[in-house]
Amino acid sequence: MKALTKLQAAPGLSLIRTRMPKVGHNDVMIKIRKTAICGTDMHIWNWDEWAQKTIPVPMHVGHEYVGEIVRIGQEVRGFEIGDRVSGEGHITCGACRNCRAGRRHLCRNSVGVGVNREGAFAEYLVIPAFNAFRIPPDVSDDLAAIFDPFGNATHTALSFNLVGEDVLITGAGPIGIMAVAIARHVGARTVVITDVNDYRLGLATQMGATRAVNVQRQSLSDVMQDLHMLEGFDVGLEMSGVPAAFTDMLACMNHGGKVALLGIPPANTAIDWNQVIFKGLEIRGIYGREMFETWYKMVAMLQSGLNLAPVITHHFGIDDFEAGFAAMQSGQSGKVILDWSA
Ligand code: NAD
Ligand code: ZN
Repeated sequence: MKALTKLQAAPGLSLIRTRMPKVGHNDVMIKIRKTAICGTDMHIWNWDEWAQKTIPVPMHVGHEYVGEIVRIGQEVRGFEIGDRVSGEGHITCGACRNCRAGRRHLCRNSVGVGVNREGAFAEYLVIPAFNAFRIPPDVSDDLAAIFDPFGNATHTALSFNLVGEDVLITGAGPIGIMAVAIARHVGARTVVITDVNDYRLGLATQMGATRAVNVQRQSLSDVMQDLHMLEGFDVGLEMSGVPAAFTDMLACMNHGGKVALLGIPPANTAIDWNQVIFKGLEIRGIYGREMFETWYKMVAMLQSGLNLAPVITHHFGIDDFEAGFAAMQSGQSGKVILDWSA
C-alpha cells in the first residue's frame, strides 16, 4: 500500500510503498478516503526538537482521517464492514485508574496514532475497534476527516458553560476558529478572538467572531471598551501556545473567570500569578478529546446546524502532498485535506 512516511531522521516525508498492517482480534482495518494535516504533522515534517525525540523512524504518520471499515477482528462487536468511520487518535491502556473509571482522556499510558505508532497517512490503517467512531450519513467526508482537531476545539469550548458569556479565544489557528463557531452555536454573547495573522482572523470572522483582533495592531483593552465590556471576559480559551497571548488573556479576564488551556506553551513559561489569585480564576488544562462524549457532541452540534465549512480551505490529491504541506507551512490556510481515494 501507499504511505506517507518519515524515512530518515530529517525534514520532509516520502510517499512510499509499504506492507499492509495486520489486523488483531480486537482491531478494525480502515481503508482511508481523506486525511487532514495537523500542526503536529508540521512539527514532524520540520523535524523539530520535539519530533526528533518522539517519532520513531521509519514510520508513516497522520491521525486526522475518515475511511471505510474493510476488515474486522474476530472479537469485535458493534461494527460492520462498510461502516464509515473516523477514530480517536489516543489509544488508551484500559487498565489504569482513570481508564477503569471511564475517564479515558486522562489515561496515563496513552499511545498516539501517527505519533507513537503507525498512522493514517496510508491507504490502510489498523486501530483497536474501541477507538473507531461511526460517522452518520449527514456528515460529509471532509468534516469527518477533521473530527480530531474539531474534538480538541469541542472539548475545550464545552469545558465551561458559555451560555450568555463573553468569551476570549487566543489563537486563530484551525482549532481556535472552530472554537469560535462552537461558542456561538452554544449561545455565547460575545466571542473575541486574537491572532497576528490576518488571513486566519478573516476565517474567524466567517466563523462568527464578534471581533477578530490582530494584537500587533490593536490592544484588547481598546476592543473591550468598544464593546462596552467594562468588567472583562467570563471565559478564556487559550489556543495559541504563545506566552504573550496567555498573558494578554489573564489581564483581560473578569474576577471569577474560567480559563481552559489547550495551546502548548514552552516549558517553564512564566505568568503573573497575582492575576490568577486575586481574580480567583479557575484554570483547566485540556488534553485530547473525551472518549466518547466529545465525539457525540461533535455529531450533535453538526446535526443542529453548526457550520464549520470555512475552516477547510485547501484540497489536494495525495500525490500532491508537498503542495498540501506548503499550504500549511505558509500560514495562509485553515485545514488542508489530502484525498487518498483518487
Ligand atoms: P496553530 O499553530 O495553527 O495556531 C496557533 C495560532 O496562534 C496561529 O494562527 C498563530 O498565528 C497564533 N498566534 C501567534 N502569536 C499569537 C499571539 N501573540 N496572540 C494570539 N495568537 C497568536 O495551532 P492549532 O493547530 O490551531 O492548535 C492550537 C494550539 O493547540 C497549538 O498550541 C497546539 O500545539 C495545541 N494543541 C493542543 C492539543 C491538546 O491536546 N492539548 C491538541 C492539539 C493542538
Ligand atoms: Zn489508561
